[in-house]
Amino acid sequence: MARPAQAHIYLDAILANYRAAKACAPQARAIAIIKANAYGHGAVAVAHALAEEADAFGVACIEEALELRAAGIRQPICLLEGFFSAEEIPLMLQYEFIPAIHHAAQLALLAQYLPLNTQTNQLKVWLKLDSGMHRLGFAPEDLTEAYQNLRALPVQVLGLMTHFARADEITCPYTQTQWQRTQQWAQSLKLALCCANSPATLAWPSTHADWIRPGIMLYGATPIPEAQTPVRLRVGMRLSSQLISVRDLAAGEGVGYGHTFVTTQPSRIGVVAMGYADGYPRHAPSGTPVYLEKLGACVPLIGRVSMDMLTVDLSTCAQAQVGDAVELWGQHLPINQVAKAAQSIAYELLTKVTARVPRYYHY
Ligand SMILES: *Cc1c(COP(=O)(O)O)cnc(C)c1O
Repeated sequence: MARPAQAHIYLDAILANYRAAKACAPQARAIAIIKANAYGHGAVAVAHALAEEADAFGVACIEEALELRAAGIRQPICLLEGFFSAEEIPLMLQYEFIPAIHHAAQLALLAQYLPLNTQTNQLKVWLKLDSGMHRLGFAPEDLTEAYQNLRALPVQVLGLMTHFARADEITCPYTQTQWQRTQQWAQSLKLALCCANSPATLAWPSTHADWIRPGIMLYGATPIPEAQTPVRLRVGMRLSSQLISVRDLAAGEGVGYGHTFVTTQPSRIGVVAMGYADGYPRHAPSGTPVYLEKLGACVPLIGRVSMDMLTVDLSTCAQAQVGDAVELWGQHLPINQVAKAAQSIAYELLTKVTARVPRYYHY
């Protein structure tokens, strides 16, 4: 008998969500963002599921890109943080990876090492503008020079890329500010444009431009939980387990480490095989919802989450017994509800599901 903690991954839903992203921006091509092991869903499995349709894939680094090529993925693969060292240059050429060029240090490396690699493919790159995120990218006043430096090298510039800082805040005008700056630069340099992450894909249609870069929405978690989305997203991951113990306690008994929860009345307590070593957030407080299948409703988490287990209050479900199915997040319990209770975000919860949790793929 295997430990019941499991992550069910719905590749059909992820493909449907990719199509939904494209439906939001029908004129645009899409870089499907599958960095960080496809937000915990399994990058190779997700890439294969999208391979027939995705225009390109986006990852954080060359290690993630090499894993995809080794698995037979042929699409263009964009390195969103670019490259970090000279050793990556021949690999980018050999495997046709497309770095985002965001800093003068990268230009210097290209100028030094690209001439040594002339017999191979031409490097394609995206030029990254810092339009206000202030993380990666050339400042507007340095952009023209960066572009000229790139043009002097044997590279093909696919376009201009920028990243929004506040696109999930649907009444915040800053996305429009970033968009206007970026669009002006793209026009004056005559470059294609790639800006929109998931929240912009969903909520800022004016920013869709030539390429969109949807990430979290592919996995069925809306980045703007408080707003209606223009398309229906399907859940990409269901994190599930079972009750492995059920016990009745008198009033006044503490439960778990530190006894942070004490029963106020005779209570039935369930233990679920899911803990922070599986990636469940340790800081999820008492009251965080846990869906109990038999009840068809949520029961509250109580006490501290421990490494391999968490406890729930089953007082509303007299029939609960060992073996009953529990959903930590999924179709019945939106991950954003758990994230909110745990003062986190769906991105963090999804990417933190650990390797100990077996992934079961549904096609
Ligand atoms: C992660 C990332 C995305 C995707 O963001 P989502 O909010 O998950 O859609 C897009 N662009 C860049 C540069 C990223 O790093």
